[in-house]
Amino acid sequence: MKITQHIAEAKSTLFSFELLPPLKGENIQRIHQTVERLMEFDPAFVDVTYHREEYVYHEVQSGLLQKRTVRKRPGTVGICAAISHKYNLDTVPHIICGGFTKEETENALIDLDFVGVENVLVLRGDPIRSEGRFKAEADGHSYAIDLLNQVADMNRGKYLDPDLKNSNATQFCIGVAGYPEKHFEAPNLASDLRWLKRKVEDGAEYVITQMFFDNAAYFDFVAKCRKQGIDIPILPGLKPLTTKGQLNSLPQNFHVNLPDELVDLIERAKTKEAVKEIGVEWCIRQAKELKDAGVPGLHFYTMGKADPTAQIAKAVL
Ligand code: FAD
Repeated sequence: MKITQHIAEAKSTLFSFELLPPLKGENIQRIHQTVERLMEFDPAFVDVTYHREEYVYHEVQSGLLQKRTVRKRPGTVGICAAISHKYNLDTVPHIICGGFTKEETENALIDLDFVGVENVLVLRGDPIRSEGRFKAEADGHSYAIDLLNQVADMNRGKYLDPDLKNSNATQFCIGVAGYPEKHFEAPNLASDLRWLKRKVEDGAEYVITQMFFDNAAYFDFVAKCRKQGIDIPILPGLKPLTTKGQLNSLPQNFHVNLPDELVDLIERAKTKEAVKEIGVEWCIRQAKELKDAGVPGLHFYTMGKADPTAQIAKAVL
């Protein structure tokens, strides 16, 4: 079922969970355990991240370094197919511009269509770790909106090869990312919102937001979106802070602000357990307030850890 249909038919705030593919060499059991732990919350869908290749350097003879490309967390499409068949649960693969030519994207979308996946989240993707700045493939997409248009074309039966006539029209429901505190490269929020609006005009049907720790940022973002005429559902993305190290790593990796009060509480916590408790309680407060405000759903970034997410979901059921 399409995410938009889940939202339209929901009797109360729906839950959804983002999953991370296991590291290469691990099996899929951890994913199954996470899904099984979270099934009691009757999720509308789970989405599965996609991870770009990374460069690693190996020392070869005479001290020279050889550059190798590795994909450390492959398996997004396989995980989506496995979960939807095992649990009869809708899955949303993230598909990204980075590392893909248009032809490879087309073939991946055909695979997804054939295994019965009806939803995708289209993203530009993060830069390769060692590169710092996003670089598209020579025949790839530079921005999420271009990838979105490829999916929208396939939904109209238009493939890359102009000689293909009467082709199968896919039925993907297309989601996109939104940034309550603006995307880190955008000159300002207004500019970021203009691009988001373009994505909606070109076929985006729902937004999932970047994590935020102050609900005011989400409410303000939604109000600005509505003012711009962006009228699709905007699912708030939530993540509990669970370690002291995340006081620095979350702003560094996700370009988000942490409120003074939360930082202060975490800094004063004496034990790892106390940090976790504070982070979970904070997230419960956020989730309850969002639910009371009538958000269409609560989207949780599990980052491979089901327990804190389950604690929060239980508290806001
Ligand atoms: P875009 O929409 O392409 O925007 C990138 C920047 O360019 C923005 O500043 C925007 O304002 C601007 N812009 C947009 N369109 C244009 C245009 N046509 N011309 C000029 N400027 C433009 N990353 C992964 O690698 N894998 C994942 O699985 C993943 N999942 C995510 C899930 C969610 C919910 C979110 C919020 C992010 C996720 N990311 C993931 C991170 C995401 O890929 C990065 O934030 C990336 O830097 C931007 O992606 P985007 O789709 O928002 O890009």
